[in-house]
Amino acid sequence: MTAPTSRIVGILKDMSTPSAPGRGRVFIVGAGPGDPDLLTVKALRLVRAADVIVFDRLVSQEILDLIPAGTAQVFAGKMARNHHMPQAEINALLATLALSGRTVVRLKGGDPYLFGRGGEEALHLAQQGIPFEVVPGVTSASGCSAAAGIPLTHRDLAHRVQLITGHAKEDEPLVLDWAKLAEPDATLVIYMGRTNIGRISAQLIGHGLPPDTPAAAVVNGTRADQQTIRTTLADLPTAVRDLDHAAPTLIIIGKVAALADQLAPSVPDSESAPAAQAP
Ligand code: SAH
Repeated sequence: MTAPTSRIVGILKDMSTPSAPGRGRVFIVGAGPGDPDLLTVKALRLVRAADVIVFDRLVSQEILDLIPAGTAQVFAGKMARNHHMPQAEINALLATLALSGRTVVRLKGGDPYLFGRGGEEALHLAQQGIPFEVVPGVTSASGCSAAAGIPLTHRDLAHRVQLITGHAKEDEPLVLDWAKLAEPDATLVIYMGRTNIGRISAQLIGHGLPPDTPAAAVVNGTRADQQTIRTTLADLPTAVRDLDHAAPTLIIIGKVAALADQLAPSVPDSESAPAAQAP
């Protein structure tokens, strides 16, 4: 195992939570797209029982507010001067915390196994022989689809959904099978698609998807400040150009996107879960 960095040693030293050597474990937990009501019962139970929570940028403040006061918290998202904690260091941190006997909850936006590097973290733990479990969460495609009124499939409009990332690995070009993606009877959901949306839109049109194909960008989906932008494939790059770069944005392309005009949720937020009580 790689030696813990000085940052990890510091984190461990600062933790007052008692440890139970040999009993450590990691739960890689999906926190959903932001609305705390979309946490699973299991996620909430684990958050309440954890010794330490390692979370990243996409976990909403409302969800962080549910963490009990005495629980140690480690932010593994953007660090000082906008540097991310490198994935290898996050992996080592999770392993070190578990080996020190802590019950660790690794809280991730959406679902851990969809574009969230949950697979990389789980593999690292498996290779170290550290007990772990992955708890699914509502992925942003599901959360945004419901909150914006865009059914991802519909018998007359889309018989297939493709979930893709619009972001290439560091320093690598975006290589996608454009011919397969430019399919008029399918729905295309793009995670992390903002930066490359000009290229994506041009390639899809170049491969035969009509420029007037309905499209939507859902910004801060399921959160109080959610914004849904309805547009077309050709106009997507202009439509998202001025959006806040820090705000998570999901792009949905396909005939179903037009249904947002009719299906935007109509029950006021304050009444949508009148009897909701934290379990
Ligand atoms: N594991 C996560 C995805 C992580 S990748 C999941 O299952 O949802 C991060 C991308 O997810 C963001 O760039 C954005 O495209 C999307 N995303 C996450 N939360 C979102 C939200 N609340 N609203 C819109 N898009 C979101």
